[in-house]
Amino acid sequence: MLLSNIRNDFPALFRTINGNRLVYLDSAASSLKPKQVVEKISSFYLNNYSNVHRAVHTLSSESTSMMEEARNILASFLNAKNEEIIFTSGTTMSINLIVESFIRYGFLKENDLVLISAVEHHANFVPWVRLSKIHGFRVEFVRPSGRFGTLEIDDFLNFKNLNPKIVSITGHSNVTGQEIEIENLKEIFPESILIVDGAQLIPHEKIDVKKLGIDFLVFSAHKMLGPSGVGLLYGREEYLEAMEPFLYGGEMIDKVSFDNVTFNELPYKFEAGTPNIAGIVGFGEAIKYLEKIGFDEIKKHIYDLTFYALDKMRKIDGLEIYGPLDERHLGIVSFNLEGIHPHDLSHLLDEKFGVAIRSGHHCAQPLMSILKSESKLSVFPNGTNRASFYVYNTYEDIDILVEGIKKIKEWFDVQ
Ligand code: PMP
Repeated sequence: MLLSNIRNDFPALFRTINGNRLVYLDSAASSLKPKQVVEKISSFYLNNYSNVHRAVHTLSSESTSMMEEARNILASFLNAKNEEIIFTSGTTMSINLIVESFIRYGFLKENDLVLISAVEHHANFVPWVRLSKIHGFRVEFVRPSGRFGTLEIDDFLNFKNLNPKIVSITGHSNVTGQEIEIENLKEIFPESILIVDGAQLIPHEKIDVKKLGIDFLVFSAHKMLGPSGVGLLYGREEYLEAMEPFLYGGEMIDKVSFDNVTFNELPYKFEAGTPNIAGIVGFGEAIKYLEKIGFDEIKKHIYDLTFYALDKMRKIDGLEIYGPLDERHLGIVSFNLEGIHPHDLSHLLDEKFGVAIRSGHHCAQPLMSILKSESKLSVFPNGTNRASFYVYNTYEDIDILVEGIKKIKEWFDVQ
């Protein structure tokens, strides 16, 4: 499938915003959806839908096999076993599940060390920090020594001798756009349990969890052409077997009596209640769509767009770009323009040029304080603008963004 042909699959790209064609540069928050995924979900609801794993009638067994087909797709996508694929409502839920379950089965105890980084999204920050206060385990932060939030390998090496029990790190920063080399993490911390937040990584990177030695990998369908409200937790089978379920209820049980409960086998032990069946079916369809394009092609396309954008944006006077300025920078460009608050800039880009970007702290407030400490702006606004690129974006999209920024800068330049 040629990337140039896929735009027709995304009707939203042909709508206008105040007379300008939409330039969608907010895929890091959530991607657009192709017709194939939406049609799959709608056809499923209209023709096959019933609850799963319960009844023996035809609709129920069709729904069950369509949902399990999606599990097959995701398991082979990651080179995992079906038992290791747990469907959740998204990355946030997956991380909370891991932390809670570790605590419940007595794995995380007082004084155990968890290592996270200072650039994490709140989803991989708050659960560890908050629950460490209640349960007494310790959390240490790998702080970025590179330019504007860039994590260098030495930053991790500093913690090697502490031998943390758990290392939970983003595979790709949602603010700096830095891709983290997960292979290095396993080498530095061979004894630690490695959890990778793949919310921004998996949309452009096909990961072999066995080859990379990842113990847990979490991500969300909505950032990779799939529906919202569905995500995934990959867990190494021996850990999942040992862990206590996070949610109790239907489907996750084997036997229930007045004084005892035994749990269902994997993966159902972690899937209490009626799952987001149509969402899971749509998730499988999104993976099929992306695999048809090919992940090498996807990554190259995003690289080319990022390089093009960085090159143009660096030439704008008064524009500060965050993260690394080398090949580690991919798909996400966070920036500020001297004297213009990100909410004003992004609002004007939308209103006057049809360009949708993100503004704010991007659920990474600790990282914002690091950016602030390095910023040369007269006032750092405790947030940034963020443009992000995906399969359907073009060089022309970036030209429109850059021209828009330049025009707005002119409007604000009063001297
Ligand atoms: N981690 C990262 C790196 C993210 O970018 C996001 C979403 N912005 C999340 C976690 C949380 O994902 P979700 O909202 O789908 O649970």
